Amino acid sequence: MSKLGVSSKVLNEVMEGVLRVSRGLFEEGLVKSTFGVVSARIPDTDYVVITPSGFRKERVAKRNLVIVNLEGEVVRGNFRPSSETPMHVYIHKRVPEARCVVHTHSPMATVFAILEMDIPCLTTEQAHAFEGRVPVVRNYSYPGTTKVEELESIVEALRRSRVALLRKHGVITYGTSYEEALDNAVVVEELAKSAIYALLLGKPEELTEADIEYMREFKKKRYGQRPAQQP
Ligand SMILES: [Zn+2]
Repeated sequence: MSKLGVSSKVLNEVMEGVLRVSRGLFEEGLVKSTFGVVSARIPDTDYVVITPSGFRKERVAKRNLVIVNLEGEVVRGNFRPSSETPMHVYIHKRVPEARCVVHTHSPMATVFAILEMDIPCLTTEQAHAFEGRVPVVRNYSYPGTTKVEELESIVEALRRSRVALLRKHGVITYGTSYEEALDNAVVVEELAKSAIYALLLGKPEELTEADIEYMREFKKKRYGQRPAQQP
């Protein structure tokens, strides 16, 4: 048991999870240079593991991950945590089911953030993944914001769709698992790309509330494996 009251096995699992997602973001081409942030709550604690500021995601290693408390203060680590730590800890504080939080500047989704335009719900895939539009958080000033009303707007948007766009900046999402957080970042980029092409080539119609409801039921009742069949 470490000084934080966390077993080294648990801490190791969380760090491995953060590294897996960081590498995944790089491999999927969603983060370039030093952009992007991954954080994960250490289960049953008020501590969060977060990537360090100014590191390329493919080069982050366990020894340079940082542990912060829910106020964003460093409790362990030799490096400065991400400059987006206030946003990440706020999300972990307000959305307890968020195991892992991911921020990217993935280019197609960022096009919508630049235009301050929600990603319209044009495919059954988007209805399946995010149950509607991917919203832009317009009550948002600059990267690294510590303004509670802005952070609260981000949480509100995430509660609706698990992924949101930060005005003129990029993407924020979370997952109840590491895999889901990475997957959401991958899927929103794909959906944004399809939407851009559709908007360039024609006048696509958005799915209706009834379409979205159908997909919600489909996901609940017919998609994936039943618990007993899971590998
Ligand atoms: Zn950013």
